[in-house]
Amino acid sequence: MQLHKKLNQKDKHKIRSTKEWQRLKDKLRDEHKVDFLSHKPLEENFNCHHIDLNPKNYADLSFEKFLPLNRNSHEVVHWIFDRYREDPNVLDRLKEVIELMMLYWNQYKEQLSIDDSKNQQKKSSFGKSKAKNT
Ligand SMILES: [Zn+2]
Repeated sequence: MQLHKKLNQKDKHKIRSTKEWQRLKDKLRDEHKVDFLSHKPLEENFNCHHIDLNPKNYADLSFEKFLPLNRNSHEVVHWIFDRYREDPNVLDRLKEVIELMMLYWNQYKEQLSIDDSKNQQKKSSFGKSKAKNT
């Protein structure tokens, strides 16, 4: 499915164990600091995601051909990429489903804040009645 998976694992391992690869990984961490997709801090084992999926270019460690991605983001990016190649409208549908979910999420949050303000009213009236008693 992923083009890079068609590469020999031994060769990939060889490339990843070089000083150049380590230098690339350090530079990605230093310059980006966060996961490219989520903007969350980079995990220790983040992926140096190769934008150029041509297996012939796997050993090309040009900095601009890589982005740092944490494990989950990396999986999402490859999954979306595979779907996108089949049908670019997948991104529109992804946004649509997320926005629909947000409608319900926002209703839920609103309900929580209403419940929370009711609780605070109870607490403050409880506090007042307690104050009267003392
Ligand atoms: Zn990748």
